[in-house]
Parts: sequence; structure tokens; C-alpha cells
Amino acid sequence: MEDYLKEFQTLVKVHHFAEGYAQDIISESFFGFPLQTIVEAEKKLTSKETPSVAYFSMEYGLATSFYNCFHSNKPVSESNNLPKQNIFSNMRIRDYYFGFQIDNKIIDLPIYSGGLGVLAGDTLKSSADMKVSLVGIGILWRKGYFKQNFWFKDGQVPEELNWDPYTYPGLVPLDTIIKLHLKDQDLHLRLWKYYVYSSDKSHAVPLILLDSNLEENKQESRRLTDQLYRSDNAYIKIMQRLILGAGGVKALEALGYSIDRYHLNEGHAAMALVEKAGELGKDELKSIGNNFIYTCHTPVAAGHDRFPIKELEKILPDKNIEFIRDNGLENGDTANFTVLLMNRCKHVNAVAKKHGEITRLQFPQYAEKIQSITNGVHLPTWISAEVNALLKKYGVTTGDCFDQDEGPKKLEELRKNDQFRLDLWNAHQANKRLLKSIFENWGIKEDVFTLCWARRIAGYKRPSLIFKDPHRLVEIAKKTGPIQIFIAGKAHPNDNLVGTFINEIMNTIDALGKQSSILRIVMLENYDIFFGKLLTNSVDVWLNNPLPPFEASGTSGMKAILNGVPQLSTLDGWVVEAESAAADSDGGIGEIFGYRHKSGEPIGNELDLRLESDSVELYNSLEKLVKLYYETDEKGKVNINSKWIDVMINCLIQGHYFNTCRMVREYRDRMWFEKE
Ligand SMILES: *Cc1c(COP(=O)(O)O)cnc(C)c1O
Repeated sequence: MEDYLKEFQTLVKVHHFAEGYAQDIISESFFGFPLQTIVEAEKKLTSKETPSVAYFSMEYGLATSFYNCFHSNKPVSESNNLPKQNIFSNMRIRDYYFGFQIDNKIIDLPIYSGGLGVLAGDTLKSSADMKVSLVGIGILWRKGYFKQNFWFKDGQVPEELNWDPYTYPGLVPLDTIIKLHLKDQDLHLRLWKYYVYSSDKSHAVPLILLDSNLEENKQESRRLTDQLYRSDNAYIKIMQRLILGAGGVKALEALGYSIDRYHLNEGHAAMALVEKAGELGKDELKSIGNNFIYTCHTPVAAGHDRFPIKELEKILPDKNIEFIRDNGLENGDTANFTVLLMNRCKHVNAVAKKHGEITRLQFPQYAEKIQSITNGVHLPTWISAEVNALLKKYGVTTGDCFDQDEGPKKLEELRKNDQFRLDLWNAHQANKRLLKSIFENWGIKEDVFTLCWARRIAGYKRPSLIFKDPHRLVEIAKKTGPIQIFIAGKAHPNDNLVGTFINEIMNTIDALGKQSSILRIVMLENYDIFFGKLLTNSVDVWLNNPLPPFEASGTSGMKAILNGVPQLSTLDGWVVEAESAAADSDGGIGEIFGYRHKSGEPIGNELDLRLESDSVELYNSLEKLVKLYYETDEKGKVNINSKWIDVMINCLIQGHYFNTCRMVREYRDRMWFEKE
């Protein structure tokens, strides 16, 4: 074995190495992973020969508890274990009697809140898989997002999350501390590092995390990197964005990285451009945007960062203010980060074709610049072991994202293979048995139609749509067959409107107590990547009902189709493309229902949720799906000729496109290292 430790230590200066990390970083191993891989990746990033990308994002969902887990010889702090959770179901007695805990599950690195973060994490993983020389920049959220409790009559009750970065396997503090010179203070930031390895561990992408919790900082400043998306005041929001953008640029310089492209995931990272501009002379300023890529993720107004220029003036040096005034001023007194980035970045993209169309409608002055690159999910993270093994057995190269034509062709052939159809059904049933065993105390069954709605709880995503008419739901279950529903998601703690949805949902679930023999509803606290994987892999139908056209892309349904799980969805985001691609296959990717936004029409009001009319359509589509599902049962035996299995196959076929390997390849070829 070669010894890479010396080289590693000259490249990466771990703080308190001897006391805290010497047992886990040894001659050839970094927390159980090859140390050589890190040495090589670090060298590429510091070399001028290799073109490199810096990717900035407020959050990263890395699925550290189940994908490429590092091993540590240090005991993990108690606070990093998944706490005991409550279940809120329409079997309330069971909720009281049974605690709910997954053994030995440690919390995923708590530096994400939902879909945007998971996408950023999947992007790093696929970049590693494709051996791109890339480094991620983010923030070490000392208190994560928040711990969620659902209390009957109170709804969502948030609690502070405390976890210990010092015993988190694979996460290391560096000696490096950078300084931001601001009007009111010098802000010190410690750098931390985490590494995202490729699936085959032959390449790695470092993730730099910034941390303001240092003694050198004043008390209030030490708490700036406590909690993700604190929105209680403009000052904290600005400072968090400054840390990510300006701190990120300084961190790259301090580490000696030679960066060719800066990719800003959402407007949160706009201060990176502002910081870079501040370093340049007037002549160089003209072309500053040539190295910048901006990905816009939302058509919802609140998703775009706007700050009073007065607030920014209290903090930022004058040269930064001047640049912002020249490039991103709105109504004379507001800095609009979206406008700033659209103005100056060479490449701007939306995250699905439909979203591209909507973004061009919203920002007509930049219409020519706005491209779309449809989101994806990281295949090795989200495909279940069962379905992966099945596809391998039949020679389908899902998982090899370099092949987008062969896989679908092969699956089309396999459609006629009875054994394959049976094996696919059985693979899904095996996944469902895992769900059943975890929720055994709630009587979840493997032969009952199971539906799930799980994601960030936001108004336009309409979490309560399926509970609009509980009588109709019961009627479907009585007439067509029993139904199990899972529901999970976190709402931003300051979103009061959404708080009322949660209360409504809980009241409805409670009122359905008498129906639990035919309709079981289980609501989970603390939806995270672990539950995201469990649910997308194992339920029968994935429910996705955002109000069109406000869902930029959505990704959870992509995780489901990879596993052959059909969709019950409105027509928005990625689904527009998948539905049209699967249009010629009988049954498509499931049932599409509800209001449709027509091209070119005004975007409408995101608060006009159309619950009445869309819920009627939802129930009709649900009824069709439940009926189709129960046709798979032929007197206790599986009816392998059932159309249901064709729909599952249609989903698998679409999975070949909606992954981050295809997405990263598009970013690489069109924006990072485009051929001129
Ligand atoms: C995939 C994922 C999401 C995104 O869900 P959407 O339906 O795309 O909004 C959110 N949270 C977690 C934990 C996820 O894994």
C-alpha cells in the first residue's frame, strides 16, 4: 500500500488533526475511502492545466446516511442519531402506544431543507461520477434546518436541532480561516471540508463549508451560520448570502484553487459575482459574467431575492454597492439578485422546458439568454437495490447514464417477456415489504394500494388537495378497494398560510378514524432523504399535485419512476416532458389530471389554488388507478398481463432521461466547457 497521508496533509490542512482525526485519516484511507482519490482531485483543482468548476449552493442533500457512508472510529455523538419520532395516523390509539424509531440511523448531514438541496447533492455526485474537476461551496449549518413535531390542534411545532459536526464521519475542519471586511465588522469564517466520492470511488468532489461560529466574531455573528433559511430579518438573510457568495470566492482563493467557471445554484449565491467584480478593474469588469452560470429554480415571486439597497449599504463596501446599483437595481431602491444575475451571467438556465417558457414570460428582456436544462436525480442513490438487481439480471444498463438509447430499447423488448414482468412486480413487492415492516405497528399491508404525497409543504404544492373531500376518498376505497396513504413534509416555520393546511390535514385524518379498515392514513414527521428513498421506492403511486405552472421541475417523481412507480400528477415541471415522451405507450407514466397552463397565457395567481375543481379531477384519476391496480390480482395470483405492469415499464423507460448524469453532461457541454 502506498502512503498518501503526507501528500494529503500538504494539500489539506485539517485542524487539530492529531487530536481529532488521526484515527480516521490514515496512510491510504479517508474514513474508509481511498485517500489517493482525494489527493488526485485536490491536485487537479489547484492545477491551471485542468479546467475546474466551483458550484455554489445554500444547501446540499447528500444522503450521507445511506449513500457512500464514511466510517469513523470515533463514537458518533448521541445528538447525531435520528431522534424518536411520532406518527400521526387515523389509528390514533396506535400512535399513542407505539414509538417510532429506526435503529442506528444517523441523521443525514443536516445542511439541506428539501428538493433544491437534494438536487445540489445529486449534482455533486454525478459530477464525481463523470470525473469533472469540481468543488462545491456551501455553509456548515450548525443547527441544520429544524426538527419537526406534528401536534394535534397545534400543527407543525418546530424545535431547534442540535448536532455535532466534530463526530460527523467524513466532515473535517480546516486550519484555514478567511476574513470578510465589512462596514460594521471583520467577519471570520472557518472552512470545513467534506468529500463526495463517485460511485466507483475513483474520483471525488470536495465540498467546502463555511462556518461563522468562531471566537473572533462578535456574539450575533457567531450565530449567522446556525440555521438554514432564517427569514426573520433582512440583515440575517443578507449576511447568509454574503457568507455563501463572497465567503465562497475567498475560500477558493485561500485554498489555491484555480477556477474557470462559477456556477450559482439559485440567486442565493449572487454575492459571488459581486465579490468577483469588486476584485477587478473597470476594463476587466465588462467580461466578468463570461465565467458565470446562473440556474434559476422558481417561478414563485417569493423565491427571488430582493433587498432594500439601504440595508445592503450598511454592510457592503462601496465598490460592491456600486456594482449592484449598476446591474440589479429595481424601482430605484431595491436590489434584485435575479435581475443582477440575468444581466451579467453569460449562461442562465431554467430547470425544465416548461419552466424555461415561464421564466422567459416573467423576464422577457432576457428571453434570448434563458435556456433550460431539465433536472434529474442521481441514479445510484435513488434506485432500490431490488430494481437495480433486476435490471442487471436482464442486461438493462440503467445506472450507466452514458447510455440513453440502449436501456429503453431493451426494456421495450422485455415488455413481452412474462418472466420479466413477474420479476418486476416481485421486486416492487419486496420494496413494499420493507415499508410494511417499518410500519408494522400501523398495520400497513403489502397487497393494499398505497399512495404517497411527500415533499416540502408549500402552498402551490397543495398538500391538502387529496383531503379536500374525505367522503369521496372513502367512497373510492369502499367501491374499488382499500387504500393506504402516506404523507410527509416540512413547512417553512414562518409560513403561516401553510400552517393552516397542516391543521386541516390533521383534522381530516383524525375524523377518518372510523374508516381505518379500508383507508389508512399515516403522516410522518421529519421527512428527509432516508424517508424520501424509502417512500419513492416502495409505494404503488407517487402523488404530485402542484398548481401549474408554479412547479419549476420537481424531482421526487423522478425517484419514483426509476423504481417503476407510476405517477398521479398534474401537468407541470418535468412531468410535461415525461408525459409527452411516454404519450405513445399505453397508460403513459400514470394518470395526469387537473388544471393545465397553456403556453403563452399569463401565469396567474399562485394563491388561487383551484382546490375545488382540481380535487374532483384528482379523485376521478385516483379511482381509475386504484381499479387498474387491483386488476393485477387474479384470485390471489399476479396477473402479469395487467396494464399496470406496462405502466411500470413505461416509468422505468422514462427514468433513463431524468437523471443527473444526463443533466450534468448538459451543463458540462453547454455551459461549463462549451465549445465556442
Ligand atoms: C426529492 C426530495 C424532495 C423534492 O421533492 P419534490 O416533489 O420535487 O418537491 C424534497 N425533499 C426530500 C427529502 C427529497 O428527497
